[in-house]
Amino acid sequence: MMDIKEVESELSKEVARAETLTELQKVKAKYLGKSGIISQAIASIKDIPQEERREYGQRVNRLKEYAEELIRGKEEEIKRSELQRKLSEEWFDLSVPLEPAVGTLHPITQTLRRIKGILVSMGFSVMEGPEIELEEYNFDLLNIPKEHPARDMQDTFYVNREGYLLRTHTSPVQIRAMLSQKPPIYMVAPGRVYRRDDDPTHSPMFHQVEGLAVDEELSFGHMKHTLENFLREFFEVEVPVRFRASYFPFTEPSAEVDIGCVICKGEGCRVCKETGWLEVMGCGMVHPAVLENCGIDPEVYQGFAFGMGVERLAMLYFGIDNIKLFFENDLRFLRQFL
Ligand SMILES: [Zn+2]
Repeated sequence: MMDIKEVESELSKEVARAETLTELQKVKAKYLGKSGIISQAIASIKDIPQEERREYGQRVNRLKEYAEELIRGKEEEIKRSELQRKLSEEWFDLSVPLEPAVGTLHPITQTLRRIKGILVSMGFSVMEGPEIELEEYNFDLLNIPKEHPARDMQDTFYVNREGYLLRTHTSPVQIRAMLSQKPPIYMVAPGRVYRRDDDPTHSPMFHQVEGLAVDEELSFGHMKHTLENFLREFFEVEVPVRFRASYFPFTEPSAEVDIGCVICKGEGCRVCKETGWLEVMGCGMVHPAVLENCGIDPEVYQGFAFGMGVERLAMLYFGIDNIKLFFENDLRFLRQFL
């Protein structure tokens, strides 16, 4: 039989001495753990001679309750005093100026928003379309039938389903606009496009903004005026703009648009390859066949369309020479665009 008085007094002393929760935990294990002193005593009650068993059992159980209560009380006391200590030792100087960790918009997002903002202020509305697109909308209805050599101009990612692909340009959104709306149509389509291209100035995924106007009596002059104004607003300077004859299957006539190099002001540099000019977009009068494909009478309506690469414009605007920087998520790069 255990000397209950003795155990109780030892326990009280040890609990009183404990200063930390770890120390208290050890005391608790010593008395109340699986093979602790009190637990052992409880387990051995059955071996006590019957005449003493009842009284001894009650005393041991009271000791157990006493021990539990004592330890619980001490635990709270330690927690309270630790909190007190923390409150007095650790404190914050609320007057120290903070550098808040505020996120910023990605330069591509900033550029996209600026492009959209300028075009919307000119009267265009924004329309979006799917990135997994019907081959018919991406090519056929845009006057690029199968076997047409222009399909090779854009290295396409096909998906695992007949008739679908990752759109190679945002032009299919123009098709969706013309199929679903009656002219006059003034819309822009921003979004991601995909091509099998990968080098310092090309990425397999990039962003385009495409614009379309369909109305009566629209001419090349309207388009030229629209794009010149857009480019001056975008680059925030009076840049010289020139239109160079080009070829796209869905426009006729077609042109590529150059601006005077914003880096060297036309004197010739590495970025403009010493020409003094930078190509910034493609455009043209919507091909009558495309209007007809969408149920619009080319005898009554004319249209003009234009398309620009967002990364290209962002690189020129911010003076960035590698397209990969946009996609590496390097904070040292991104933090420069507040
Ligand atoms: Zn230049």
